[in-house]
Amino acid sequence: MENDRASQLTGRDLARYQRQIVLPQLGINGQRRLMSSRVLVVGAGALGSAAAAYLAAAGVGTLGLVDGDTVELSNLHRQILHDEAHIGWSKTQSAAHRLNVINSDIRIQEHDEFLSSANALDLFANYDLIVNGSDNFPARYLVNDAAVFLKKPVVDAAILRFEGQLAVFRPGLGCYRCLFPTPPSPGTVPDCAEAGIFGAVAGVLGSMQAVEALKVLLNLEESPSSAFLIYEALASRWHRMPFHRDPDCLVCGDTPRITALIDYQQFCGLGSDRTQATPAAASDAFSVTAEEAMRMMEDPHLTILDIRDEAEFLKGHLPRARQCSMEELDAPTFSRDMPVLVVCAAGVRSAYATQYLRSRGYEAWSLAGGMRTWGGAVSAVAIQERTRR
Ligand SMILES: [Zn+2]
Repeated sequence: MENDRASQLTGRDLARYQRQIVLPQLGINGQRRLMSSRVLVVGAGALGSAAAAYLAAAGVGTLGLVDGDTVELSNLHRQILHDEAHIGWSKTQSAAHRLNVINSDIRIQEHDEFLSSANALDLFANYDLIVNGSDNFPARYLVNDAAVFLKKPVVDAAILRFEGQLAVFRPGLGCYRCLFPTPPSPGTVPDCAEAGIFGAVAGVLGSMQAVEALKVLLNLEESPSSAFLIYEALASRWHRMPFHRDPDCLVCGDTPRITALIDYQQFCGLGSDRTQATPAAASDAFSVTAEEAMRMMEDPHLTILDIRDEAEFLKGHLPRARQCSMEELDAPTFSRDMPVLVVCAAGVRSAYATQYLRSRGYEAWSLAGGMRTWGGAVSAVAIQERTRR
């Protein structure tokens, strides 16, 4: 959508954006493109704060914010657009106020309401790209489906404790449901209020969302594709997971069976009257305890995949386990007919890998807590003896 101001940069624009205009990949044309772009940020919370701040600073011409919540003191350790003076304000109003202080030359559109099946299509239709910073599964599936129907790219992120995940979904190249066809059972994943969140992790993931959104708007991706990344703050590591469109996907597959928005609270097993958010991030729905894993290991046909890196693997691993990088999951060499036990350091990567393998037809299970919790309860020697019998 062309914006008059964007066709001609003023001296003030040149001065403000000079450090990015000087990038050969951006230039004056790139800046014009940003100034005529319209981005909708879903959720003016932790992720939305960091993402929107960078998008506003970069000069994205129209920034929409949708959130029906109000600012509370307990938000401030991670939702950096809000401050003490604005406790009790609506989050969209508080965020718009701060974003205007950062850049008064852009247009901020406040949508002071929760995203729902009733308003999502109308809202999304006015924007070029959706940044999803929502904190619950119903909203995540709703954002996905609405974006698929309207062919809008989505930059999705979720955070919990010390971990985060990020995905870029481009129209035609796969969607959230290709990765996670079904939501985890209610109660199997704790939310931020219960499990906690390390505030700066939201800053990392929100900033990454801004980077990826700007790349999509500017066509700067080296190889445009859908990507899924996992961040583990305690280990200071990023993991990249292969990800492709699933031809059997219910919404973006070859013969989609869902062609209109549904009741997402009900779909996620929460009942339609429930408004309280439930969590994002990895699902524990297909995880097993160390004891259950030991029983599974009595089956000689079980495939045991250790998806830690080689150095971690060599320090100690389960008997019969084979080391396998996340990237190798893209072209698995093990049988689809046998169960698979996936193991990592803390159970985060293995939970994602399990979901991914399940979306591709494998009977996969993740070892809850990973190798970190394995050692205490059951020593590797005991396992070896058990499996030898
Ligand atoms: Zn899909």
